[in-house]
Amino acid sequence: MYLIPIPAFADNYLWLLHDGKRALVVDPGDAEPVLRALEQHALQLESILVTHHHADHTGGVDVLRQACGAKVYGPATERIPKPFTPLHGGDTVHALGRDFQVLDVPGHTAGHIAFYTPCCKLEGNSKPLLFCGDSLFSGGCGRLFEGTPAQMLASLDKLAALPGNTVVCCTHEYTLSNLRFALAVEPGNADLVAYQARCVRLREENQPTLPTSIAQELLVNPFLRTRQATIMAAARRFDASAHDDNTVFAAIRQWKNQFK
Ligand code: ZN
Ligand code: FE
Repeated sequence: MYLIPIPAFADNYLWLLHDGKRALVVDPGDAEPVLRALEQHALQLESILVTHHHADHTGGVDVLRQACGAKVYGPATERIPKPFTPLHGGDTVHALGRDFQVLDVPGHTAGHIAFYTPCCKLEGNSKPLLFCGDSLFSGGCGRLFEGTPAQMLASLDKLAALPGNTVVCCTHEYTLSNLRFALAVEPGNADLVAYQARCVRLREENQPTLPTSIAQELLVNPFLRTRQATIMAAARRFDASAHDDNTVFAAIRQWKNQFK
């Protein structure tokens, strides 16, 4: 299988997974770059997976469905361009000859879902693969537009529990700005300093910093590290009332919202 991040808009990636003949795309906010990629690689688009209702994730769905006859899958409780197969956490989507588990990851939106397959052969190696939309980013997490900090923390806990070698396909290139914030929270984190240097080099070469992995994020992402003593202490410097998992997470998220 081949995994391609198709850049779109200012900082989105529309993830294309294909086997040389058939393809699926995740969160096609724009049809045009997807159609170009399909033509370039001579691929038939079989499935469209949607994680949540935002326009930058759904804007190309109708055109792609009509142009390619692809089947659309999306969260049952969100407004996704119809017709689509409505999904709930625990469901399975069969696409490209493999099964994707549907995970409920509310927080960014109320019905946000993610797609996970435990075993996908990429560049000769079998690895778990995750399409997480705007729930988890490298070094960060989605803004809480429709959910509570407790919901988002529970969603991120679910993702953090996936195998460390899981290939994590986030939908925005927010990594460098996320890491600037992460370093403000944890200036003494050597893994974070090294990761930032690597990501800066990638961006200088105009390369994506994604996909990332769960193991990498556990080392550097403050939103997966809110139970670390250093992060709890930093959260309390921002908001003295932060005292447990949810309030520490809420403080870090609020701090990030204000961070410049
Ligand atoms: Zn979004
Ligand atoms: Fe988005």
